[in-house]
Amino acid sequence: MTKLLHRAISSTIPRAVAGEGIYITDSEGRAYLDGSGGAAVSCLGHNHPEVLDAMKAQMAGISYAHTSFFTTDVAEELAEQLVELAPNGLDYAYLVSGGSEAVEAALKMARQYFVEIGQPQRRHIIARRQSYHGNTIGALATGGNAWRRAQFRPILPETHHVSPCYAYRDMQTGETPESYAERLAAELESKIIELGADTVMAFVAEPVVGATLGAVAPVAGYFRLVRQMCSKYGILLILDEVMCGMGRTGTMFAVEQEGIVPDLMTMAKGLGGGYQPIGAVMLSETIYRAFADGSGLFQHGHTYIGHPIAAAAANKVVEIVRRPEMMGNVVRMGERLQAGLDAALGECPYVGDIRGRGLFRGIEIVTDKDTKQPFDPTRKINSRIKQEAMRRGLMCYPMGGTVDGVHGDHVLLAPPYIIQPEQIDMIIDRLAAAIHAAVAE
Ligand code: PLP
Repeated sequence: MTKLLHRAISSTIPRAVAGEGIYITDSEGRAYLDGSGGAAVSCLGHNHPEVLDAMKAQMAGISYAHTSFFTTDVAEELAEQLVELAPNGLDYAYLVSGGSEAVEAALKMARQYFVEIGQPQRRHIIARRQSYHGNTIGALATGGNAWRRAQFRPILPETHHVSPCYAYRDMQTGETPESYAERLAAELESKIIELGADTVMAFVAEPVVGATLGAVAPVAGYFRLVRQMCSKYGILLILDEVMCGMGRTGTMFAVEQEGIVPDLMTMAKGLGGGYQPIGAVMLSETIYRAFADGSGLFQHGHTYIGHPIAAAAANKVVEIVRRPEMMGNVVRMGERLQAGLDAALGECPYVGDIRGRGLFRGIEIVTDKDTKQPFDPTRKINSRIKQEAMRRGLMCYPMGGTVDGVHGDHVLLAPPYIIQPEQIDMIIDRLAAAIHAAVAE
């Protein structure tokens, strides 16, 4: 009997009692290999002694000091580290407590920026279908995933959506990656013009799409065109690195691989590595100046922004993630994971695509490799895979609605960066068995 409102009321889930390295142990003593870092969170695995020590040290000093009264060394240090690591031009950090809060803050920064610079008519947000930006009202409205939005639609603020960059399904025969990217940029431009170019405030996108598409990276050149389009019409580009950032794709931020710099960038998940709830928004000097020279404040804030223990944990997580050996391991283990999945599942008739970057990989499940036809959603292939994987001691992150928000299934893998070759092989063996069992049911 539980008094807790769980995510799913009808099913019972194991009780986690301990974590060590890439494993979580439940109250029955069963160990689960954390192949997804929860939901791409636990980038350093569990119980990392250095992170725990940093948190304890902070607790011995000051555990909480409201940010309207005080700043703290750890919050200042974290902002400095993030500015050092972020793409050039993102010169300030705003600390929050998670991904949705980061997205909400970024949207409000965009809006306030235009008010400050005398363009208050700019209010439209354009994002992409099949994206996820969080579950608070503004972030949910920004995300373009049909089933997540459906019942809340009447209370969501107005947002507009264009196509994702999803080459596996949407690149047409005869198109090259370049011409596909150009078609998507033209679609974005049409939407901007339809809404009135001087009324659009921001374009929001995940550099590598996580929860809703399963590690879908853009085609080469796509984000350059998006950047050009935003600059042409004076629109702010907000990139959401909540899931794909903090080293997940083999570079500190996924956008580095696209060769552009956004105006605002959100992060969370791997920033605290699960040790504390924390997120951040990075902002450009231009936006900071507009606030500084205008009203002198960003009109926002929550009770727990810049929380010292969260900042202490994140400081240590970031310090560890940026050690030279860490990104090397993400790249090497990511390649091993892709190669192993290709070998184990590449020929499987119901595995349509295996994709991703670094330790961020997705497997799209279809009824037929050639037609790419998805399974009937009533078969709940994704939740069956999750059950079968848990039964085999593997945590992975399957999701439905891949194709259009209703149809389609994929599995997302996002193991900790400390993972070793034999553990990668275990993920592949267990996942392959889980997928076969789920489809055979
Ligand atoms: N943005 C992206 C890209 C995400 O993947 C998520 C969560 O999965 C969020 C925002 C929301 O983050 P949170 O769940 O920490 O609020």
